[in-house]
Amino acid sequence: MSESDSFYAKRKAIHPKQIWGNSHKWRVYGGTVLCSLFFFTPWITWSGRPLVYFDLTLRQFHIINMTFWPQDFFFLAWFMIIAAFALFLFTTIAGRLWCGFTCPQTIWTFIFVFIEEKIEGPANSRRKREGQKLTNQEKSKKVLKHIIWLIIALATGLTFVSFFYPIRELLHDAINLQMPLTAVFWISVFTYLTYMDAGWLREQVCIHMCPYARFQSVMYDEDTLAVAYNPGCGEPRLSKSKSDFEETGQSQCIDCTLCVQVCPTGIDIRDGMQVDCINCGLCVDACGDVMESIGRPKNLITFNTLNRLKGLKSRIIRPKSVAYLTVLVIMSSLFLYQLLNRSDIEASMTHNRDRMFQMTKSGSILNYYTFKIANKSQSEHRYTVSITSDNFTLRESKTISLNKGQFLETFFTVESQLTDGQETHGSQIIIFEVKAADGSSHKQLESRFIYPSRR
Ligand code: SF4
Ligand code: SF4
Repeated sequence: MSESDSFYAKRKAIHPKQIWGNSHKWRVYGGTVLCSLFFFTPWITWSGRPLVYFDLTLRQFHIINMTFWPQDFFFLAWFMIIAAFALFLFTTIAGRLWCGFTCPQTIWTFIFVFIEEKIEGPANSRRKREGQKLTNQEKSKKVLKHIIWLIIALATGLTFVSFFYPIRELLHDAINLQMPLTAVFWISVFTYLTYMDAGWLREQVCIHMCPYARFQSVMYDEDTLAVAYNPGCGEPRLSKSKSDFEETGQSQCIDCTLCVQVCPTGIDIRDGMQVDCINCGLCVDACGDVMESIGRPKNLITFNTLNRLKGLKSRIIRPKSVAYLTVLVIMSSLFLYQLLNRSDIEASMTHNRDRMFQMTKSGSILNYYTFKIANKSQSEHRYTVSITSDNFTLRESKTISLNKGQFLETFFTVESQLTDGQETHGSQIIIFEVKAADGSSHKQLESRFIYPSRR
C-alpha cells in the first residue's frame, strides 16, 4: 500500500483558487447577512435585555419578548424536530445547498482563505511554496495571517459566549480582568475550535467529521438538485488547441482543470457525484467562465438533477417531498399555535405528604399545600389564588405580587368545614385557580384534599 493510500497518510493542504462567480456572489451576500446577525444580535437590546439571551443562572432563555423556562423544554425539542424535517425537505429538493452556502463552517473557512490569499498571495504560489524553506518575509506574512485568524476566532468565541453573558458586561469584565473562569474557559474553547476548524481542518470537517454529510445521501434521489458534470457533453475531453473547438462546435471539456483548482474539498467533479462535494458551486462558476471565454454554452458543470442529465423530466413535487412538506406544515402550525397560546403563568400546587390532614377542635379538616409560581411574562403582575370547588376555604392571603421572570414558593392551608352527617371518602379533587389581576392570564391547578378515612 502506498503512503497516500494509507489511513495514516499525511494530509495534503488544499489551496483553492479564488474566483468571483454567481455562486460565490450569493455565498458572500448570504454570509454577510448571517455573520451580521451573529455578530450584531448580542448588541441589540429589547426592554433593557439582550434580544437573545440564555440566562443559565436563572435558567431562563429570552428570545425577543418571550421567556422560556426549563418547563418549556419541549418547545426546544419540538423546534429541533421541525428543523430536522425542514432539512430533510430542503435536502430532498436542493441537495447540500446548506453546506455550500450557509453552513458556518463553510462561511468561516471562506473568510480565512480570503485572508490567507490577501496576505500570502494567490493559491498557485502558495501551493508551490508548500514544503519549501520560508524566507523571513514569508515567515512574517504567516505570523500576520495567524494573528488575524486568531483575532477573528476570538471575536467569534466572545460572540458565542455573549449569548449567555451580556456582551457589554462581558467586555467590561474582560477589560477589568474580572471575568469569571467559566467565561474564560468557554471563550478559549470557541476561539480554539474556530481557529482550528476554519484555519487548519477546513474540508476535513466536511469530509470526515460532519454527520450531515454521512446521511444526506439517503435523502438524495434522481430529482435532487446537485452540482453535476455532464459527461454526455463533456466527453471525450479535448486538447486546448483552437482547431479542436472549431471541429466539434459543441461544449466539451478542454481539461483545463480549473474546476479542480477552485474546489475547496479538492475533488474532481468530472469523476461523478461524490460525498465530499459540498455543492458550493465554485466549479460551476469556473467552468462557466471557461466555456464563455471560448464561446461555448455553459452546460458542462451545472446545478442539475440526474434525471435532467439523462434527458428525462425532473419533478419537485414527488411523494417524498410532499410527505416531508405535509409533516412540516402540520408540526409548524401546531408549534406556532402552542407558542402563541402559551400561558404566562407557570404554577403547581402539591399536597404536602408529610402532613396528610389535621382535625381542628371545631371539627373542620385542614390540608397543607406547597404552591410554586413563576411569572413568565415581561412585566410585573399581581396574582390571586382561589378555590373553585365548593366547601373549601383558603386560610392565607390569596394575593401574590411577582416581578417579571420572578419565581416564588409558598405554602397554603385549605380548610374544609364538614357539615353534620357529611360522609367523606378518603380524598376529593380540589381545583385551585390562579389569575393575573389584570386578567391577562389564568391557570387551573388540580390537587386532592385528604380526609380522615372514617368520621
Ligand atoms: S473547468 Fe470545465 S473545461 Fe475545465 S476541466 Fe473542468 S470541466 Fe473541463
Ligand atoms: S465539486 Fe464543485 S461544488 Fe463540489 S465542493 Fe468542489 S467546487 Fe464545490
